[in-house]
Amino acid sequence: MTFSVHGLAVARGIAIGRAVLVASSRVDVAHYFIQSEQIPAEIERVRQGRNAVVEELQRLQADMPADAPHELTALLDVHLMLLQDEALTGGVKHWITERLYNAEWALTTQFEVIARQFDEMEDEYLRERKADLEQVVERILRYMKGVASPVAPPASSPRRKTQQDLLLDDTVDVPLVLVAHDLSPADMLQFKESVFAGFVTDVGGKTSHTAIVARSMDIPAVVGARAASQLVRQDDWVIIDGDAGVIIVDPSPIILAEYGFRQRQTELERERLSRLRHTPAVTIDGHRIELLANIEQPGDAVGAVRAGAVGVGLFRSEFLFMGRTGNLPGEDEQYRAYREALDGMQGLPVTIRTIDVGADKPLDSKAHKDTHLNPALGLRAIRWSLADPAMFRTQLRAVLRAAAHGKVNLLFPMLAHSNEIRQTLAQVDLARAELDARGEAYGPIQLGAMIEVPAAALMVRTFLRYFDFLSIGTNDLIQYTLAIDRADEAVAHLYDPVHPAVLRLVADVIAEGERQGKSVCVCGETAGDVTMTRLLLGLGLRSFSMHPAQILAVKQEILRADTRKLVPWAQQVLDGEEPAALLAS
Ligand code: PEP
Ligand code: MG
Repeated sequence: MTFSVHGLAVARGIAIGRAVLVASSRVDVAHYFIQSEQIPAEIERVRQGRNAVVEELQRLQADMPADAPHELTALLDVHLMLLQDEALTGGVKHWITERLYNAEWALTTQFEVIARQFDEMEDEYLRERKADLEQVVERILRYMKGVASPVAPPASSPRRKTQQDLLLDDTVDVPLVLVAHDLSPADMLQFKESVFAGFVTDVGGKTSHTAIVARSMDIPAVVGARAASQLVRQDDWVIIDGDAGVIIVDPSPIILAEYGFRQRQTELERERLSRLRHTPAVTIDGHRIELLANIEQPGDAVGAVRAGAVGVGLFRSEFLFMGRTGNLPGEDEQYRAYREALDGMQGLPVTIRTIDVGADKPLDSKAHKDTHLNPALGLRAIRWSLADPAMFRTQLRAVLRAAAHGKVNLLFPMLAHSNEIRQTLAQVDLARAELDARGEAYGPIQLGAMIEVPAAALMVRTFLRYFDFLSIGTNDLIQYTLAIDRADEAVAHLYDPVHPAVLRLVADVIAEGERQGKSVCVCGETAGDVTMTRLLLGLGLRSFSMHPAQILAVKQEILRADTRKLVPWAQQVLDGEEPAALLAS
């Protein structure tokens, strides 16, 4: 039966595929397709993993003291029974043989199938056995981690299917869409090279970092879809409408045909836009606009150049630090990463933002759950860096050294106090002095501050005294101005980029930068939102930084814009009580 689930639109386009349900705790499981000749070896890997766990449990059973609590022996019995259950082993074989899933993926898929059956059981005792099954599966996975996959995972990705294919071909090689309750940004990042054609999560706001990473992958995604991971079953056919923020489960052939058509239209539109790649971004009245890329990993630089970016406006360096269970990258590793980004940009400038962890970007999504009441107001971004000056200077030295090989700008997140500014700049001086003492080469850098706290926007003159350039982080500026947690889907309807207070802060920062002849960029999601392009141009913005996938669509808006008309109109919007209504006019 067809039904739909509504969430928040995150990344454009339509994806049609079968659902893969992923439990958040096991997202570090690799997902890739194997070749058919690998089927026996993959089945063998699972068998070995399962046998090893059986032996381990049997050993435990044998060594159990006579006076051990009855619950413990009963628990081991249950685990052994689950391990030997045909539903688990048979199911895993099915996913490997029929769908060519790698062993770990097959195991977690079958876990989801059985877990769902447990969930539906009337008997509470049986329902609770799901937790036992989860433990058993995790034991096998841990064991398998030590047993190398016989071949390297191929970077395979199912080709995009036409709607006709979808109706005819129901075996392997159909697109897959991932459905999860929650995914941390680091989890999301590890799916970047994976096989999924779209994503759905139950939680998250439009500018949560998970959503941002999904957007950077340029595949349809919906977040904040509440109970999606409960309602969708493993292998269900799902349409993700990334434009409307809707997912349609078990669609009828007519609905499939309609969305298949829209999917092709989107592809045609992309092809059309790609012709603008080499066209300079100049308005009708001759203003040249700088279109920069936001990247998360050094390897993204290549795609940024391909998309026509004239530089990187925001390299979120924290993604080098996340998901590493406390083992942070050292100076040399960071230096290599920054150089890789510079090399990827082929001489174009790269703006590296210092580490911005905290709030919805925990350093380690599994080991560390931020238990603070208001993590977004806590020790994050520059506060975190200043609290650990040695770690901070390691990053600064790495950036300074990379600057010897290309044009680097350094950007500091979430500054709000003038003493934070001074401390930050003192750390930069210290880092230079440390490199001097070592006789290490480093290059010149421009220093910039992010304007993402209302306090910073209101004291923009102070900021401009200290910094060479500013970059407005609208994601946080909106969050902090309107007191709306950007990662919380429950208040997502109040998250308003055109709230008069937000617009006033943005406009004042742009105007003050212009007065002082210093560059002001917008690097929040607003910069890549085509419905905002004309307004930002009218407010005087000349530098936009966004996901590479948005660049051509924004460029198209710029090519059609005439700032002589947009400036008075933007003033009207700014002075209005309901900017959203004027924006649509
Ligand atoms: C912002 O806050 O707008 C920004 C660009 O930084 P991030 O999204 O990484 O917090
Ligand atoms: Mg921010």
